[in-house]
Amino acid sequence: MRLLRAAKTHHLSTLIHYVSPAAAAPRRLQCTSSPEDKNGPSMLRHLISKIKATGPISVSEYMREALTNPVTGYYVRNNMLGAEGDFITSPEISQIFGELLAVWVISEWMGAGRPKQLQLVELGPGKGSLASDVLRVLGQLQSVLDGASVSLHLVEVSPALSLLQAQSLTGTRSQEADSEDDPVYRQGRTEGGVQVSWYRCLEDVPRGFSIFLAHEFFDALPIHKFQRTKRGWREVMVDIDPDNPGQLRFVVAPSPTLASTTLVQADERRDHVEVCAEGGVIIQQLARRVAEEGGAALIGDYGHDGTKTDTFRGFKGHQLHQVLTTPGSADLTADVDFSYLRRVVGGGVACLGPVSQRTFLKNMGIDTRMQVLLSNCSDLTTRQQLISSYDMLTHPAKMGERFHFFGLLHLSRFAKPKTATGFKLEKKSPAQLPVAGFTDMSFS
Ligand code: SAH
Repeated sequence: MRLLRAAKTHHLSTLIHYVSPAAAAPRRLQCTSSPEDKNGPSMLRHLISKIKATGPISVSEYMREALTNPVTGYYVRNNMLGAEGDFITSPEISQIFGELLAVWVISEWMGAGRPKQLQLVELGPGKGSLASDVLRVLGQLQSVLDGASVSLHLVEVSPALSLLQAQSLTGTRSQEADSEDDPVYRQGRTEGGVQVSWYRCLEDVPRGFSIFLAHEFFDALPIHKFQRTKRGWREVMVDIDPDNPGQLRFVVAPSPTLASTTLVQADERRDHVEVCAEGGVIIQQLARRVAEEGGAALIGDYGHDGTKTDTFRGFKGHQLHQVLTTPGSADLTADVDFSYLRRVVGGGVACLGPVSQRTFLKNMGIDTRMQVLLSNCSDLTTRQQLISSYDMLTHPAKMGERFHFFGLLHLSRFAKPKTATGFKLEKKSPAQLPVAGFTDMSFS
């Protein structure tokens, strides 16, 4: 009954109260990173022979090879997430993160007029924790969803991680496709009966109303690097170090490259810029889908709004790692330039944000959710875990201000409400509907 009431009132501020008050079991953080150094040198050898054959390669090509080479790529071989891996992400830190994103999904589904089919699409799902938390909440709020059919679509380049995702989301209820050419390379069903499908790229995900989530996905996509010189913009390349032929170094291309002539803005003021052209292509695909099929996209990542310069870095064992050392053995990443994403999206959809993770989670009701979890939990260790994960997610010096949320919404979300006959709308009435997370809402 209470759930039904929540469905009728439609308020985000009430939905959060209907998510189960229990804290889920703490995340199991152990992971089984493969002995990277065994494979690292083979990636280095591969890159050195490539450079010997064709000359210096772009940073973008270097990053793509190091991360997603089908045989020796870092993401392809490793399970890098968690305390024993190379880095930890918000969904791995606390269930609250995924629960609040689930409320965002439902809120945007409602804002779109409650379509009968809801495709939840996640790009780069890691260990599957975010998707699993979102599905758990959707399961709890079934009466709000009012019979809408939910399916989960995962875009994952890594066979190793897709297996982990399958175990966590479907147990033994998934199987690989018979043919390598099948765009759906794995398919399964959750215990609750939600169909889950795996794809290598976004184009393969079926059309239809979709809510897209991409957390710490865009920062893993390859970037080009450019340096302002006296002779104009030049691309930074990766070459063999002549003093140390078994190692790599950065060089500046002597003449313009196609990338340096097309990817740097004419009015660019910085002296060094990083451009993630692949991220640009993906955000355009997302925007086109949202515009044509309806839905929304939520991107959470560390990043800036066109202000930072050199952010390319590596992580290994939770420590910074030299980006050109033992490629394939460490995570490589660069801050997401949200101003670039906004620029390439164009006008077919509305862009929201970036807003800081702290603001977004507070707007989504993280404080209320914490109170509910704490008041239902008497175990001291679990309480301490809840408090420290809240701090990690929201503290300005931790993830609170470094991570940001950026949204793409269908333009109809902002259409002026139709004036009913005989009803006088105030002249200054806001045209915009509140969008969860990006708008301050009161939780009582
Ligand atoms: N979203 C998860 C994992 C982030 S790590 C979390 O927040 O915990 C980056 C994820 O993106 C991994 O699952 C990695 O395998 C995937 N990935 C990286 N590059 C990709 C690409 N080009 N296409 C699809 N998936 C990719």
